[in-house]
Amino acid sequence: MQIMHSAKERLRTAVRDIMDFPKTGVVFKDITPIIENGLLFRLTVTVFADHYKRKNIEQIVAIDARGFLFGSALAYVLGTGISVVRKKGKLPFKTISTSYDLEYGASTMEMHVDSIKPGQRVLVIDDVLATGGTAKAAIDLVRQLGGQVVESAFLMELAFLNGKEKIAPTPCFSIIQY
Ligand code: AMP
Repeated sequence: MQIMHSAKERLRTAVRDIMDFPKTGVVFKDITPIIENGLLFRLTVTVFADHYKRKNIEQIVAIDARGFLFGSALAYVLGTGISVVRKKGKLPFKTISTSYDLEYGASTMEMHVDSIKPGQRVLVIDDVLATGGTAKAAIDLVRQLGGQVVESAFLMELAFLNGKEKIAPTPCFSIIQY
């Protein structure tokens, strides 16, 4: 427990706040100081791996683009494959898609039609849970393909935006909370 507490504090201290990016009023949580540091990157993946090693995860689903960083390292440790949720127009094969509202405008996410096997136990992963729209879109795509979303995981959760409520009843795990 003590180790987990100090790990969280080390990661929290490393996250860099960028004011007014990408637009006025947004505080962007920059994770590059974590991934650029071998100890901190390994610490992040270790905390995820400790949490998921006994949950029988069969496939990781990682969200474009920073979810790929943690998702692929975790998939390697857990010995699972990794499927990708990408912004519209990036995937070369046949896709399914879902659209969702952003603060201004809308966005569309896609997955390959054969990227999840029916019944597969899936973990959805991204760097930040904000309003939850992006994670919900990923969860919806996995379900359309017949997968079972066991949990969703984030390096950090911006709890004041209530993203957890949007993705409920899918359980949510985050290492750092703001
Ligand atoms: P949302 O759909 O609102 O939960 O937003 C989540 C997605 O947008 C994730 O892929 C995050 O990488 C990104 N995101 C949203 N808000 C922030 C923020 N304040 N700092 C960094 N990334 C963010």
